[in-house]
Amino acid sequence: MQFRDLGEQYRRLKPEIDQGIREVIESSAFILGGKVAELEEKLADYVEVKHCVSCASGTDALQLALMAWGIGANDAVFTSNFTYFASAGTASILGATPVLVDIDERTFNISPEALEEQIQRVLAEGKLTPRAIVPVDLFGLPADYPRIEAIAKKYGLRILEDGAQGFGGSIYGKRACSFGDAATTSFFPAKPLGCYGDGGAIFTDDDELDVLLRSLRAQGRSPEDKYDNRCIGINSRLDTIQAGILLPKFRALVDYELEAVNRIAGWYTERLRDFVVTPLIPEGYYSSWAQYTILLENEERRNTVQKRLKEAGIPSMIYYSRGMHQQTAYADMRLPDEWYPNTLSATHRVLSLPMHPYLEEDTVDRICDVIRKAIMR
Ligand SMILES: *Cc1c(COP(=O)(O)O)cnc(C)c1O
Repeated sequence: MQFRDLGEQYRRLKPEIDQGIREVIESSAFILGGKVAELEEKLADYVEVKHCVSCASGTDALQLALMAWGIGANDAVFTSNFTYFASAGTASILGATPVLVDIDERTFNISPEALEEQIQRVLAEGKLTPRAIVPVDLFGLPADYPRIEAIAKKYGLRILEDGAQGFGGSIYGKRACSFGDAATTSFFPAKPLGCYGDGGAIFTDDDELDVLLRSLRAQGRSPEDKYDNRCIGINSRLDTIQAGILLPKFRALVDYELEAVNRIAGWYTERLRDFVVTPLIPEGYYSSWAQYTILLENEERRNTVQKRLKEAGIPSMIYYSRGMHQQTAYADMRLPDEWYPNTLSATHRVLSLPMHPYLEEDTVDRICDVIRKAIMR
């Protein structure tokens, strides 16, 4: 059994994907180009923002947006303490300080209360300038943008939505990757919209930011004269072949995959809700189910369930086994555990189950039986 069955997806989409790849090879044009422009336009239309700027990874997408805003030394960037490393690491690369914020215990997303506490703490300390908030749409569920936007406005901060796991989700119909001043996503293979390698994109309604991002992803070259570099950028472009793969995969995601993962999440929840804490999708929210993550009573129970699943040949994952504040790279910041009770509880109790659009109902049955038995014995 696969945790995320990319092979089955390829079998269904093989003719279109193979043709997309072949066209790129036959054209002998491998970086950016017509297919990338087509993809950027389709994704921007779907998300309902004016611009989509693709690049080489979700990590680069975050870094490029922060670079474009001139974020660097002595700046504070607020992000979730329970996420993939890049949400904070990209601020650090630019010399800024990531300020890690505890999560909501039910949605696993950044807690608006804890966010405001951390902003006030940084202001009171007076060492760093608060500049931006990077909320993460963890496991496919958009963060609490209505409340985060109010806080950003109150303190004059920009919002950069980290939608690496969130593409395809929405809040009352407003799509993930359209929140804040800019948003990013990742096309890493296992994400809701994945390619066959690394890739990413930035979304924004801001015309000037769009121009600046296109320059920054190409060494800072001037839009008018490609041999004049007007600022310092990086080399981060999307390969044409990945656009050839993403175009049919995007169509499948919108046509039926999002519906399928939501149906499958329903199967899991129906079978598990009396035994474990199942994911909470607040009213009006729609998840793209990058992960289906349950909470067990405690670490011992979680580890037992994972062991029983493994014995039954069922893969499961622990996203994430440590808070960002527990990363060795951030040990110097000496962040106290007391700031992060919900993160710590999650690291001990979470378990992510197999999730992809091609899971069948009897497979979900089998997985849930093993979990139930592991808990009841
Ligand atoms: C995967 C991921 C990223 C980074 O994307 P890459 O394409 O792997 O660089 C950033 N943030 C979150 C929350 C992610 O899950």
